[in-house]
Amino acid sequence: MGYLQKQNNPPMLKDLQESWQQEPTPFYLYDLDLLRQTLEKARNAAAQYNFQVHYALKANSNKPVLRLIQEFGFGADCVSGNEVKRALKRGFVPEHIVFAGVGKSDAEINFALQHNIFCFNCESSQELEVIDALAGKQGKVARVALRINPNVDANTHKYITTGLEENKFGINMWELEGVMALLQQCENLELIGIHFHIGSQITDLNVFKNLCSRVNEIQQWFISRGIQLPHLNVGGGLGVDYYQPDENPISDFESYFAIFNEHLEVQPGQQVHFELGRALVAQSGSLISRVLYVKKGLTTNFAILDAGMTELLRPMLYQAYHKIENLTSQGPEVKYNVVGPICESTDCFAKDVFLPETQRNDFVAIRTAGAYGEVMASEYNLRDKAKAVYLGLEVKSV
Ligand SMILES: *Cc1c(COP(=O)(O)O)cnc(C)c1O
Repeated sequence: MGYLQKQNNPPMLKDLQESWQQEPTPFYLYDLDLLRQTLEKARNAAAQYNFQVHYALKANSNKPVLRLIQEFGFGADCVSGNEVKRALKRGFVPEHIVFAGVGKSDAEINFALQHNIFCFNCESSQELEVIDALAGKQGKVARVALRINPNVDANTHKYITTGLEENKFGINMWELEGVMALLQQCENLELIGIHFHIGSQITDLNVFKNLCSRVNEIQQWFISRGIQLPHLNVGGGLGVDYYQPDENPISDFESYFAIFNEHLEVQPGQQVHFELGRALVAQSGSLISRVLYVKKGLTTNFAILDAGMTELLRPMLYQAYHKIENLTSQGPEVKYNVVGPICESTDCFAKDVFLPETQRNDFVAIRTAGAYGEVMASEYNLRDKAKAVYLGLEVKSV
């Protein structure tokens, strides 16, 4: 990992080229000052309402990133045993760690039980039975929340929608009666709340309003049965602006939390939890690459980069848009298909993008790559792992 001193504020990637020209490409470039500003805004917006925010580690689990997020007082939202382990290693306290996921293995559950994490977000009755049995063996009582499928359309890409009845995630309302009957028999489980997560990259804030209405209804179901739930966890999913990262570097946390404050019927003494991933880290990262070759076709020009789906999978996995910039060229705009070097036709970042006339060795930035970028890297084609370079680093040991 390399560290660069940031030279200006706000950062324009173009102006910083001098500082990284020697770095071997491709690499991930993280702006920790922007991350700090983002965390500060999110923390302050949530604090107005005493909302508790857990960071979804799966978006980015790099050491300086996690350290900073932990220092800002966020909790951790984990979806694997190794994420729980990583959160603990980076200083998150067990009382602020939640563990979700449809397929928690026995080993993962045991590990989380040993460390007395705050809560398991449970997604099926069978999972409840397993956690009950494993907790019993350890002589412990596990705190659980039920991940309920609210059947709310997140109005986002179908590949990243998780709150509809046909998704694999969560417990459906029609199963709830049976789940509650089961919980009566589970002596080693303590039901502390309900949990929701309806999808990711949600930019239409009305979706969250709809989520609040459903949560209120579902909460009534419990209240009418005399069940008190001390915790409500409404998940994450707040989106970022992939189209205009410089104009909108920080998501509108104020409006986001205000919606929940206004529409969620919080019961006396009840704590509200959030699990944000993308909105906290996405804009702080770019993938920096060099152009290896420019290939002119009959109708299509290809800009072939030294980064590919092995460094940033989102365009290929979810048809996701990332803004692409040529940081070197000032030439007139030409249309390109921007592709990677991997031996797959789908290894294409974008089709028909206009870039200044592009040449071999030009630097290219693929923006908004701080979330679900480096964490999804693979060694396919026996690629080397791209390193991370940090701007504004003040974390002592990395
Ligand atoms: C991925 C995930 C999140 C974070 O989603 P973002 O869209 O990155 O905010 C939160 N909760 C759960 C359960 C998740 O799986």
